[in-house]
Amino acid sequence: MKDKQRGLFHLAQLDSVYFNNKQNKIVIENCQQMIENCQINLSSFNKSYRISQKYIQNKDYLRSIEELKITYTRINNLDLAYCSKCAEVFRSTIIQSLEVIQEDLQKMGSGFLRSQKYASSYQLVCTVLEEIRK
Ligand SMILES: [Zn+2]
Repeated sequence: MKDKQRGLFHLAQLDSVYFNNKQNKIVIENCQQMIENCQINLSSFNKSYRISQKYIQNKDYLRSIEELKITYTRINNLDLAYCSKCAEVFRSTIIQSLEVIQEDLQKMGSGFLRSQKYASSYQLVCTVLEEIRK
């Protein structure tokens, strides 16, 4: 199974609790332990997530990867403020996004559009994913 599919499958498993709508944000439908921090951090997560998606649309992969990495680190640092389900959904969403970027960059790197800019972005996304999956 490809990495991207695994990411999607993982999110699908949590579908009854959450859904990822078309506006690039996560919505908490039914957080089991609806602690206040889940909601507060959710809006900050969505803000960062939307920024990263905007960068992708503009083909600014480097910034997008950096934004996702920062967001991921922030989730881990604030771990206690989330319930574990919410934290897991946020992490899965970020990993899935990074995998999509990685796939896109891989395609670009092999075509005649190969450029140094994309090559360094590809390198970065691989490093970040490796760190995250440890
Ligand atoms: Zn929660």
